[in-house]
Amino acid sequence: MLQTQLEGHPLVYLDSAATGLKSRQVIEAMASFLTHSDAPIHRAAYATSQRATELYHAGRSKVQHLIGARSPTEVIFTRGTTDSINLLAASIAQARLRPGDEVWVSAMEHHSNLVPWQMACKASGARLRCIPMDAHGNLQLTAFPPQTRILAVSHIGNVTGTVNPIEQLAQMAHQVGAWLVVDGAQAVGHRPIDVQALNCDFYAFSGHKMGGPTGIGVLYGREELLNLLPPTRGGGDMVETVTFEATSYAELPLKFEPGTPMTAEAIGLGAAVDYLNAIGLDNIHRHEQQLLSQAHSLLEPIDGLRILGTPAERAGLISCTVDGVHPLDLATLLSCRGVAIRSGHLCAQPTMAHFGISGCWRISFGPYTTQEDLELFGEALHWAIGRIKKGQQDF
Ligand code: PMP
Repeated sequence: MLQTQLEGHPLVYLDSAATGLKSRQVIEAMASFLTHSDAPIHRAAYATSQRATELYHAGRSKVQHLIGARSPTEVIFTRGTTDSINLLAASIAQARLRPGDEVWVSAMEHHSNLVPWQMACKASGARLRCIPMDAHGNLQLTAFPPQTRILAVSHIGNVTGTVNPIEQLAQMAHQVGAWLVVDGAQAVGHRPIDVQALNCDFYAFSGHKMGGPTGIGVLYGREELLNLLPPTRGGGDMVETVTFEATSYAELPLKFEPGTPMTAEAIGLGAAVDYLNAIGLDNIHRHEQQLLSQAHSLLEPIDGLRILGTPAERAGLISCTVDGVHPLDLATLLSCRGVAIRSGHLCAQPTMAHFGISGCWRISFGPYTTQEDLELFGEALHWAIGRIKKGQQDF
């Protein structure tokens, strides 16, 4: 991908917050598995099946160590962040929410950490409430009422890049006996994550945003809480014994993983973890922070450009608008110069409403993003804004 051309120009990829590019190691691990070791796991007696099963579980233990989970049983494979949160919200709606209970979601959530909780509240009669955000894009935290059962907050906001104070939120949640669910889609792969140090109860993320494949994600949960929750999806692999009268479920993590799993994807995810560890997550974090300050110096002088939010701590992404320039026009023109950025509401319509806009554009970084990428983006941005403004004058 880094040697690919876009509209005849070398690709400048600044959309890693939407999906991360996959390293050669990830592609090769998946290709090698599919070429030499492909077999159904957990089911068959032949050697390739056993080998496939081992590789699949090795992927899980790599993820366990990446996030500091106590045991592999706390790592549930899902199809992505959205799937993780849907699984969790549906189970919590059944087992833990009653009329009068409250679920608190922050004002900066991606739709995937909002809509499943709306559904859970609708199904259970609980009430959905909003943790407000100030003009800088920081959460405004005050004590939660005793009827709070769930706080669901992103580790890093996908519009403002705000790094939320997860340890503090965990303490506030636990003070009232609530569980803290963290949407870590924008955090994993960009900085070291230790779920025990964060003290969260659940942590959801996607393989494809951390340089792994699409179609796989993770729901981390404390073992004692996962044991309390019922599965909401049934089928093969997640059961112990089945009769027409009753079914007993398998132990964690299989209880939440019905059906033939994503074997090649789990192996690719394991390779992504190796790749991140080889570079070092501290190094990746430092690198993205350097790019962030370069991006600030490049964007701030531009006439009419507004950066959404000035949070206390920002991760490697910036969303902007430019007066009189439609985000889609800008993104389309940039694409003509080989520059890939995201535009639109970024699956965060309430956040757009908070800033009084209907859409914006965003640049975001990964370990492979270079200073030169940003320089090329800067040149293309000036050209594109100039062209749009000139077109308006001529018109
Ligand atoms: N949460 C956040 C903060 C995100 O940025 C995204 C992806 N844009 C998601 C959740 C959803 O991730 P996925 O589409 O991989 O399920």
